Amino acid sequence: MRVLALIGTRPEAIKMAPVVRALQARPDRFSRVSVCLSGQHRELTDEVVRRFSLPVDYDLNLMRPGQTPEDVLAAGLRGIGEVLRTEQPDYALFHGDTVTALVAALAAFYARIPSAHVEAGLRTGTLTRPFPEEMHRTVADRICSFCYAPTPQARSHLEREGIPSDRILVTGNTVVDAIRLAIRIASEEPWPEELAAAGIEDRKVVVLTAHRREHFGAPLRRILGAADRLARAHRDCCFLFPAHPNPEVRRAVSDALGADSPVHVIPPLEYGVFARLLQRAALILTDSGGIQEEASVLGVPFVVLREATERPEALSDGLGCLAGTDPDRIIEAAERLLGAPRQPNKMGNTPLGDGRAAERIAAHLAGEEVAPWTPPSAGETGAGENHQGIYQAGDRNNG
Ligand code: UDP
Repeated sequence: MRVLALIGTRPEAIKMAPVVRALQARPDRFSRVSVCLSGQHRELTDEVVRRFSLPVDYDLNLMRPGQTPEDVLAAGLRGIGEVLRTEQPDYALFHGDTVTALVAALAAFYARIPSAHVEAGLRTGTLTRPFPEEMHRTVADRICSFCYAPTPQARSHLEREGIPSDRILVTGNTVVDAIRLAIRIASEEPWPEELAAAGIEDRKVVVLTAHRREHFGAPLRRILGAADRLARAHRDCCFLFPAHPNPEVRRAVSDALGADSPVHVIPPLEYGVFARLLQRAALILTDSGGIQEEASVLGVPFVVLREATERPEALSDGLGCLAGTDPDRIIEAAERLLGAPRQPNKMGNTPLGDGRAAERIAAHLAGEEVAPWTPPSAGETGAGENHQGIYQAGDRNNG
């Protein structure tokens, strides 16, 4: 079989990397495994490609300053369509909910090439939240040939939308495979200079990330203001904000954080380094989808800087809570979690996967019978034990 993986952004590269590697590990079944980068995001994706040694056969290099989703959509549809017609894979794989994912699904549909969606079925239930990702993944799931759902809940979203059960396999989330692999590969590397200089080795670490499109402007300034207040109240902690290169994020930093702010604003970190930093953290504050999952897998308490999450499984064992962008709610949640004990690293099965999602996808594509992944029962993870009284069923703040 010939399989083509289509990747546009850093999170797609991270979560698709284990799948590409699992396919490459089976040359008996996959005679060609190729990768096409749309280039929707440039440097951040290139770093992941290098970290996981992914082969890149096509690079559409679409990124333009000030690009809109429509720009990427229009150029990507033509570019990916041409690649599909040249490559003629037996299967095109795409991941997640970016413009590149939607374009990949559309282009494969037009070229009549079977396509499969990795991490299918995530939903908030509101088409505009998150914007525009909920629309991307809903349309992509409708038109692709096969859905690899990360969890049983994602599967039930798909079934509710009329996707037949025989077009869905629950695999676990490939993020579990990815973060474990990255930590293993990078485990012996020294910390980069900026992290050592910030004092991560002898202080508790708090990691902040925030760059969602719907938070640009006032919400982002509120988030940063809350982080600044927290960092001033907790001088024993090292607050690190690896800031996304987006100009809107830069603007919010200069508006909300004074020169004397104890929040260290640093460039984005390479994934292997970032994964190890998350593993070391006492607390994570994030509006990212993937980082919520990674925090849950690593057993690190986390505050989700969003009003709703399409990843409720990550909150299921009481490690994380939703706080939106209101500074008082963020500070209240962070204070509560900072005092909470860390859970041990979850090395086996987690509420998001067992680290073998990529292997299942490769086996399924190879035509083998694959048993769906099943989440651990409450006793295995501590789910339902409500460790720090953080997650209450029916609690408005916890979705
Ligand atoms: N990430 C990284 N370096 C950083 C910040 C994030 O490697 O400095 C990784 C992070 O571990 C996660 C992914 O990038 O796997 C999240 O990307 P992003 O927040 O852009 O997207 P989302 O998860 O919201 O789709």
